[in-house]
Amino acid sequence: MTTGLTFNLQQFSTEDGPGIRTTVFLKGCLLRCAWCHNPEGLSPQRDLVWHDTRCIAARACLRACPVGQDSILSLTPRGMTIDRACCTLCGKCADACPAAALEIIGKEWNAEELVAELLKDRVFYETSGGGITFSGGEPMLQSDFLCAVLPRCKDARLHIALDTCGAVAWERYARVLDWIDLGMFDLKIMDSAQHKRATGIGSDLILDNARRIAHARKPMWIRTPVVPGYTDDPANIAAIARFIRDELPTVERWDLLAYTNLGKPKYHRLDLPYTLENAPLYTRGEMENAWRVAAEIAPVARWSGATR
Ligand code: SF4
Ligand code: SF4
Repeated sequence: MTTGLTFNLQQFSTEDGPGIRTTVFLKGCLLRCAWCHNPEGLSPQRDLVWHDTRCIAARACLRACPVGQDSILSLTPRGMTIDRACCTLCGKCADACPAAALEIIGKEWNAEELVAELLKDRVFYETSGGGITFSGGEPMLQSDFLCAVLPRCKDARLHIALDTCGAVAWERYARVLDWIDLGMFDLKIMDSAQHKRATGIGSDLILDNARRIAHARKPMWIRTPVVPGYTDDPANIAAIARFIRDELPTVERWDLLAYTNLGKPKYHRLDLPYTLENAPLYTRGEMENAWRVAAEIAPVARWSGATR
């Protein structure tokens, strides 16, 4: 049986498509965007994290680890260190902690279980014009699981949105497209070399997949994270705008999302470097300027997000 691995199920979401939705965040992503605010979604495996604000130094985790006390986990005056190369992700430390300071991120589902969970909020989807959004990470990396889940969602007459970075082979999209009502598609940087420098992957496949989804006449919402020094060059915003205007006729809406540093503590919990440590939030005026560049060419543009 195909199973899926999620890192969050966000109920009552109003940011990930029309109406009230449940967003299913699936683990694993091919890109490594410096600004990613869901780093717990990057690895296709489960992750162990330690929450410093919850820890009461009970040390139950150290005693519970089957690999040996002070071997993988060490509680030092500077915090918990985790030898991730040796950790088997068994979760015994997390189970033993009375303060839930250690946590395994990643829950495995089969299709029936997940759809039963999603249907608990059906009344909210129906009364608001909402539904389910599959996001990540990159949900298309678990396309076999989606092929098991999506027909069940469709049988239950749920509206389905797919939130994708666009960087997987078209064959995977072709398998799920019939079940998708709305394609939510990230466009970050048009220039392929710059896209590769910022995310690890060029933009050619992404742009091609965007064209193909539009060609399949799927309604689309485009999302562009506006990030200092990476995506906020007016020339880049204008190039995305022209691409939307000229090549994506099914786009209903284009969201410019102001850079947020809310993901920063998650990087520390995962022992991952956060390269935007000192980047300030935008001012309202800066976001309005970016929006003006966009909306002059593609009037479907709007912006949102916290500003300073
Ligand atoms: S997940 Fe298991 S192996 Fe890893 S630190 Fe916790 S108890 Fe030890
Ligand atoms: S594509 Fe999305 S999930 Fe993947 S690294 Fe970039 S921001 Fe994070």
